[in-house]
Amino acid sequence: MNGEMMKQFENLFIELKKTTLNEMKMIDSTNEKGDEVDLSQEDRQRALDLKLLGRQNFMLKKIDNALFKIKNGTFGICEECDGEIETNRLRARPVATECIACKEESERGESQVLYEKRSHTHGKGFGNVIPLRAHAADLETVLASNSDY
Ligand SMILES: [Zn+2]
Repeated sequence: MNGEMMKQFENLFIELKKTTLNEMKMIDSTNEKGDEVDLSQEDRQRALDLKLLGRQNFMLKKIDNALFKIKNGTFGICEECDGEIETNRLRARPVATECIACKEESERGESQVLYEKRSHTHGKGFGNVIPLRAHAADLETVLASNSDY
């Protein structure tokens, strides 16, 4: 990736960061509603806000990570195979850290796990009730398959 394009992405991330921080500030201020809202509704709203804040926080980390990579010159390099991430992919999803091939590979891994999960619970014959132990086993499957990719 040439320097000019790198600069463009850097500006993009700086803008993205500003927008994200502003959005987080707005979520924070909507929390100060006082007590005219009934409690259960407020709780629900807060849970929603926390979920949103969590997502924004996650995004912020990705943006910072990308800005860091721009600084040390590794932006646009796939974390899996060290190949270049396609420019079109970066334009569509600037915080991408994997090239298309690696991303597709890890997605195949995920759907494989989903399939195993379905057949696994089906075979147990518990109908819709999945015993707790089956969840733990599924988690292990997910963890194990993630380390493979
Ligand atoms: Zn790759």
